[in-house]
Amino acid sequence: MKKLEERILKEGRALSKEVLKVDSFLNHAVDTKLMYDIGEEFKKYFENHNITKIFTIESSGIAPAVMTAFLMDLPMVTLKKKTSKILNGEVYQTTVHSFTKDSDYELTLSKDYINSNDKVLIIDDFLANGEAAKGAARLVEEAGAKVSGIGIVIEKSFQLGREILEEKGYDICSLARISKLDKDVIEFIEE
Ligand code: 5GP
Repeated sequence: MKKLEERILKEGRALSKEVLKVDSFLNHAVDTKLMYDIGEEFKKYFENHNITKIFTIESSGIAPAVMTAFLMDLPMVTLKKKTSKILNGEVYQTTVHSFTKDSDYELTLSKDYINSNDKVLIIDDFLANGEAAKGAARLVEEAGAKVSGIGIVIEKSFQLGREILEEKGYDICSLARISKLDKDVIEFIEE
C-alpha cells in the first residue's frame, strides 16, 4: 500500500535493526483517514473469504480493525491482554510472548463472542515473530471456529512471523512489508 509505505518512510523511526516506531499515525497518535484507507485495503483482499467476525489484539490493532469491521459490516472483538474482573463468565485463554515487552501475557476471549461457525479475520498492527497472531488463532481454534485470514498493517519480513503462519496454512495480507530496518534505513519488499 503505497500511501502507507510513504508514511512509514516519512515518519517511522527505526529504534534498532528490529523495532520500528510509528507513534505519529498508528501506535500513539492515530490518523483516522489512513486507518479508513487501511480498512478499504483489507476489505478488498478479504471480501470474498466469507468472514463472519473480525478479531484484534488490544491495543494498537483496534484502530485498523474497527475501520475494517465497519467497512465490511461485521462484528469486531478485541482480545484482552489482561483478565479483567468485569469479564464475567467463561473465557478462552492462552499465553503469548510479547515481542516489544519481552514478557508473557494471557490473551483472553470471552466465550460469549465466538461460536464454532465463525470464520474469523485476525487484524494486528505489526507482524514480527508471529506470537500474537498465533495466540489469537489458538483461541479461535479452541472455540472450534476457523481462522479465515490474517491482516497485518506492517510486516517485518526479515523476522519469522510470516513463514510460521504460512506453514500453518493461514492466508496473510500485509499492507507494508519491510525487508530491512536500521538507523535511517527502511526498505520494503517490492511487490
Ligand atoms: P509478534 O507477536 O508477531 O512477534 O509481534 C507482534 C506484536 O508486537 C504486535 O502486536 C505489536 O504490538 C508488537 N510489535 C512487534 N514489532 C513491533 C515494532 O517493530 N514496532 C511496534 N510499534 N510494535 C511491534
